[in-house]
Amino acid sequence: MAVMAQKTVILYPSLGVGHLNPMVELAKVFLRRGLAVIIAVVDMPDKDSVSAEALDRLAAANPDIAFRLLPVPSCGTRPYSHPVMRAIDVLRVANPVLLGFLRALPAVDAIVLDMFCTDALDVAAELNTPAYFFFSSALADLAIMLHMPYYYPTAPSSFKDMPDTVLHFPGVPPIRALDMGATMQDRDSDVAKARLSQCARMLEARGILVNSFDWLEARALEALSRGLCTPGRSAPPVHCIGPLVLPGNRGGASERHACLEWLDAQPDQSVVFLSFGSLGTFSAPQLREIARGLESSGQRFLWVVRNPPEHRSNSGEPDLVLEPSLLPEGFLERTRERGFVVKNWAPQSEVLRHRSIGAFVTHCGWNSVLEGIASGVPMICWPLYAEQKMNKVHMVEEIKVGVVMEGYEEELVKAEEVEAKVRLVMSGDGEELRQRLLTAKEMTVEVLKEGGSSDVAFDKFLTDLMKNTCTENSAL
Ligand code: UDP
Repeated sequence: MAVMAQKTVILYPSLGVGHLNPMVELAKVFLRRGLAVIIAVVDMPDKDSVSAEALDRLAAANPDIAFRLLPVPSCGTRPYSHPVMRAIDVLRVANPVLLGFLRALPAVDAIVLDMFCTDALDVAAELNTPAYFFFSSALADLAIMLHMPYYYPTAPSSFKDMPDTVLHFPGVPPIRALDMGATMQDRDSDVAKARLSQCARMLEARGILVNSFDWLEARALEALSRGLCTPGRSAPPVHCIGPLVLPGNRGGASERHACLEWLDAQPDQSVVFLSFGSLGTFSAPQLREIARGLESSGQRFLWVVRNPPEHRSNSGEPDLVLEPSLLPEGFLERTRERGFVVKNWAPQSEVLRHRSIGAFVTHCGWNSVLEGIASGVPMICWPLYAEQKMNKVHMVEEIKVGVVMEGYEEELVKAEEVEAKVRLVMSGDGEELRQRLLTAKEMTVEVLKEGGSSDVAFDKFLTDLMKNTCTENSAL
């Protein structure tokens, strides 16, 4: 009797915690469905320590998942016009290493690429292996990205030269040019050209898995399904399989973080949590404005603080010492009873699920947004880099899970604004938002249940994968 051999899927994340975390959650879904999975991670000679630490943490917390490091040659020290150009270069240089690694495996049935790993499509083509993308940002961002090669070349100018112009993309709320992705602001820059070419190449995949769900982004899903984002071309099927978020438990961590002990002692929904992704930093004057705003709001807070970029060491090591002079004099003493400052890094998903959290000031990275939604916590949107300003638009205008921290696009958000938004969301005025988040939280559970929309979407994707990899094992 012939039996189906176990399928092996390779997951290929790009660099950075925000890309690695959701890939690990995706790996768990494959494992639960009985597939073998390997996460192949580019091991950069000059990797940043945040990613290295995150990888160690993830590997320790997930012993069932096979992680393989692919050592890539150094790209040298030449200057890059943008950090994303460096990442694209590293991933391009990694192609022969990836090819060699895949060739040495007994079987590879499919490869799932992060959205920045478009060059690896060439590796998949050479091996005749089906390639899929895993898009770890909002579905609405995907709708915009797929439309960009149609829109941008004939737009009146670069986004940076028409910041207040309101743009219209299928399936997405109107969006000001200044809120478009940071890498796309200058149409003539190397990075915008590289990203546009990546957007165009996404159509070569067999399918695109997206870390979102149909209830959350119904309009974007409809636009993509009806082909409105790629007129005249057939786009690969889009499968909304999320939300895949870090679990709210400690995983491999041996000790409970001190901030969780502190949260245990706080009343329900009484604490504002401020955290700005894996890379978010503020200038010293901005840190002081935030501190003043928090103090005058009178609310309890848990704040993840990093030294400003100009105060960071050049060694690449995370700077663990927050210089007290960065905060207003006496701030830490005066707020000791109701505030907790964490340096650099907090166990965010665990914090967000804590019953004492009442609001989340976020930089709008998509993993953070999904973690906020899965925890039912209303958000205050303070976008900083990458595609976060676009996410802010989706969150406020479409999904309705947050309010804007006004002034985010200026040099300084004033203390009065921090105070006002914190008060707004924590008070009775935030009730509508809280109700919306409660519904959204319930939906995150519903869609992942057996027969829920994300579960069904994953089944559909698997059917496609199996159809294309119908290798049989005649053992037995
Ligand atoms: N994160 C964390 N602790 C921190 C900061 C971030 O655990 O102090 C996690 C967060 O929970 C999320 C990821 O790092 O899973 C950040 O991803 P996101 O997409 O939100 O932002 P990015 O870092 O990619 O800008």
